[in-house]
Amino acid sequence: MRHVQFKNVGKIYRSERGPIVALDNINLDIDAGSFVSIVGASGCGKSTLLKCVAGLERITSGEITVGGIPVSEPPRDMGFVFQRDLLFDWRTIVDNVLVSAEFEGKARRDFTDRAHKLLAIFGLSDYAARYPWELSGGMRQRVAICRSLLCSPKFLLMDEPFGALDALTRDELNDELQARWIGEAMTVLFITHSISEAVFLSDRVAVMDRSPGRIAAVFEIDLPRPRSQSSRETVAFTKYAAAIRQTMNEFGAVSR
Ligand code: ADP
Ligand code: MG
Repeated sequence: MRHVQFKNVGKIYRSERGPIVALDNINLDIDAGSFVSIVGASGCGKSTLLKCVAGLERITSGEITVGGIPVSEPPRDMGFVFQRDLLFDWRTIVDNVLVSAEFEGKARRDFTDRAHKLLAIFGLSDYAARYPWELSGGMRQRVAICRSLLCSPKFLLMDEPFGALDALTRDELNDELQARWIGEAMTVLFITHSISEAVFLSDRVAVMDRSPGRIAAVFEIDLPRPRSQSSRETVAFTKYAAAIRQTMNEFGAVSR
């Protein structure tokens, strides 16, 4: 079943220096429960695409549907994780997780058990009563993920969520995210600079052309799950990564 569909989507920003074409005729279908990544150079329109599907920016042409309904405002059942964790320094960790229930106008008390359960899954039980500034970057990003999962979203949008982390922490979080995704029946749209991360996590990887924002190619990643870190060293994995890199080179999607 199709969950998200982009049909001839265009987005032009008006700026003082004239119009900026950020998305140009994007077509992409995302099946319910699938994990789709988008890779491309910075400035190619990845965040714009995510903001448009999230209803945070308006598209200028075409249509985006989520669950068959055209997006005009942030869809229900959606979670969001950004590169910066956006935690509130004056709130405890568990209160930071509970923010998403408050945003959705739901009663906190109905979600406190789930908040603690998610913190336990991400190894943060001992930190529930601490404050964000007491945690490392990787732990903070785990808190941001717990927050995004609190209300059991059917659709999770992630914009370079691990971009600011060291490589080892990033690999760990890739494992944890894969495990949660397998457990939760949710659709994920994930943006990353890392080809290896995209191949590791995804069912499909869309490569964006450098400019203006188009999709140059979509790769189906047919590797068995759950994938382990050692799967990154297999021939099949390496072939996918090499094919994606080649496409990125061809379409100027790699920053030089
Ligand atoms: P990416 O996430 O791939 O780095 P973005 O989607 O952030 O790319 O940006 C795509 C293009 O749109 C860039 O040229 C950027 O400068 C421009 N852009 C992004 N947001 C705005 C905005 N609010 N107003 C004007 N131009 C923008
Ligand atoms: Mg971006």
